[in-house]
Amino acid sequence: MNKSKWIRERDKHLCQICLLERYNTQTKYNFNNIEVHHIVPLIEAWDKRLEDSNLISLCAYHHKMAESGQIPKNELIGIVRQII
Ligand SMILES: [Zn+2]
Repeated sequence: MNKSKWIRERDKHLCQICLLERYNTQTKYNFNNIEVHHIVPLIEAWDKRLEDSNLISLCAYHHKMAESGQIPKNELIGIVRQII
């Protein structure tokens, strides 16, 4: 099983931000268009690309917000710490 699939299974195929109903969540249990986000981007930390603590499942909407910094990295790291 590849890492991306493994992370999505760990996160129950749900956007972890929607699940907490933060940042304009429309649907709490959101299974749609789930993508795996690198909290610390690959360009900054290639060695963390496969670390569970650096990966989180997000919907496309929240993934864009995370990529643009509208969702702080520290918040995402805190959410992952609750999961693993
Ligand atoms: Zn979401």
